[in-house]
Amino acid sequence: MSAEPVAVPLVGFRRWGAIRGALYSGIFVAGRFVPNPALGMIAPRVKPVPWPTSEDRVAKCFALRGHDAPQRDCNCGFAAYYELDAEPELPAREAVWGVIAAWGRVIECEHGFRAQYARPIALLDLRNPADYREKGRRIDNAAEAYGIPLLERAELVAYAAWHGELRTA
Ligand SMILES: [Zn+2]
Repeated sequence: MSAEPVAVPLVGFRRWGAIRGALYSGIFVAGRFVPNPALGMIAPRVKPVPWPTSEDRVAKCFALRGHDAPQRDCNCGFAAYYELDAEPELPAREAVWGVIAAWGRVIECEHGFRAQYARPIALLDLRNPADYREKGRRIDNAAEAYGIPLLERAELVAYAAWHGELRTA
């Protein structure tokens, strides 16, 4: 099955690592945030690039044999969940949750999707109480840098639904 372009943007929930106002894709391992591990494997000297603040982000595939992202048998594309957990996990102090609007070609999966284009539209006002860096203003710094609101859970879900199609798993 190939990725089909969507007519209306999809919205979904995802986690980033936020560092000094920049949002990075990455993974969380043993309490630490590791930005763009797939890129690190193919190009260890290339610095991870944060999501742009003023333009949309275009997905790239970092698989050995590159292709247009997203593809079904890969894990490229901008991933988001259809639903936000009642108590979203913050596995590292850099972890932040938010909503993306996504469009272009989209692969739909059981619990979420992977998309060709995306941009963050709001962040969840949820802080790791142990995070003392950035004077406790990590998510505020990110929300300011991207010019997007910082919202409580219920508001965030409502805000998401105004900006695109919110599917359920
Ligand atoms: Zn791929």
